[in-house]
Amino acid sequence: MNFVKNQNQPISVVYIDKKRKNSSVLKYLFLIFTIGVLVSSVLIFIFFIFNDKNFDFDAKVLTKNFNLFGEQKEENTPNNNVQDRKYNEYTLSRFSNEEIDRLGILDIPIGFSVQYEYKGIKFVRTPRKSFTYQQIGLLKYFIDMTPAKLLNPGPAAIITFDKGEISPRHNLSQDTIAFASGMYMFFNDISFNSIKNDHFVDNAFATFVHELMHISQFNYVFDEFGYEDALKLVEKKGYSWVDLVSESALTRSFAESTEWEYDPQRGYFLNSKENVLTTDYGKTSIYEDIADTVAAVVTTRFDLISENRIIWTLNYLQENSDSIKMKKLPVFPNSKLVNLEGANFIDTIKQEYNSKYDYVSVSTFYYDKEKSINDVVSFFENEFNDRYWTVIKPLYKTNTNSVITYEGEFSTGVRNSYIRIYTYDYVGTGYNISLKGTVVVFICGFKFN
Ligand SMILES: [Zn+2]
Repeated sequence: MNFVKNQNQPISVVYIDKKRKNSSVLKYLFLIFTIGVLVSSVLIFIFFIFNDKNFDFDAKVLTKNFNLFGEQKEENTPNNNVQDRKYNEYTLSRFSNEEIDRLGILDIPIGFSVQYEYKGIKFVRTPRKSFTYQQIGLLKYFIDMTPAKLLNPGPAAIITFDKGEISPRHNLSQDTIAFASGMYMFFNDISFNSIKNDHFVDNAFATFVHELMHISQFNYVFDEFGYEDALKLVEKKGYSWVDLVSESALTRSFAESTEWEYDPQRGYFLNSKENVLTTDYGKTSIYEDIADTVAAVVTTRFDLISENRIIWTLNYLQENSDSIKMKKLPVFPNSKLVNLEGANFIDTIKQEYNSKYDYVSVSTFYYDKEKSINDVVSFFENEFNDRYWTVIKPLYKTNTNSVITYEGEFSTGVRNSYIRIYTYDYVGTGYNISLKGTVVVFICGFKFN
């Protein structure tokens, strides 16, 4: 998700042979060469600095000092000129290519095409990369599980791409999975590896919601200021859409509910309070805090964020804590990751699930000894019940190799979940058997419609 500004140019390394070191001609040539390399490096660096717009929130660097707070309040009347704008097939939105450029939004790679469409959201492929059947299925599932508020309007397109299709000056890091730019969501890797072996099973879904919230932040600006005025504002002030977001009522309302304070001197929001309960990434800027907060609430990770954040988000999404939990997978506060690669029962169940479902994910984690196995079992029984999962097989005690084991199976119709809970100190060799606790294994099968 990191999208860092290009700061370091490659450094040329010149190897000098010792025998030639005394040749003054070569020395001279080498000096000219070195100066040449240095000068061009500086020029390239300057080019990048001046050419770089904020294409994405995760690249956010606020350097400007524009304070429109208060000013825009009186003039702010909802603007409905959205309807009048012509749909543009080259941008898949109501913006022209020229406007997209002015706003600092990343272009869709040349030669793209619409591969699929679901609930008005276009799934866009590029010449080098397309979505797989499973990726489309999972994205549809994510869209179905997303609160309506985040989809009205949602992204104009979800774009899969090969890193080579994005200009190197955007400097995507090797592990960039997703980012948002204007009304587009870019997804580089939806193999959803993060969904596996992670105590936060819905990690990929959280990433999806995080980027979706950035798109909502973008849409909110155009809703609040109106398309034409927002565009004019960008032009007048000479900044990108990302900077406009800090002028929005949405950002200010989040700041009012949390510890963020606007610093008129620097022109951005600061959070200097100690012990703020939000994610590490959320602490980096108010924009990321908003996105991570909403992602935490939608995936029911209430343990990650403060109560004022939860309240703000439920209010924004027009949801309550019961509605948001509906058919979501239980989460596991204070659990730890455990690596169970090679465990036979996982392979067996996975095989069975693979033959029945379109996509299978495995998550393994444990609680240490403060929590008894009975507590863990009743915790998950209640969780599935509270979240409206249908019981296929209730959690029942089984005996395998004298390990106390419970197994059960639950379903939402789209997603089936096998759960196995057992004591940790009998796991076997190769694991840290000095730790006693309770292991929980989730194997989920998705059936796409
Ligand atoms: Zn972000």
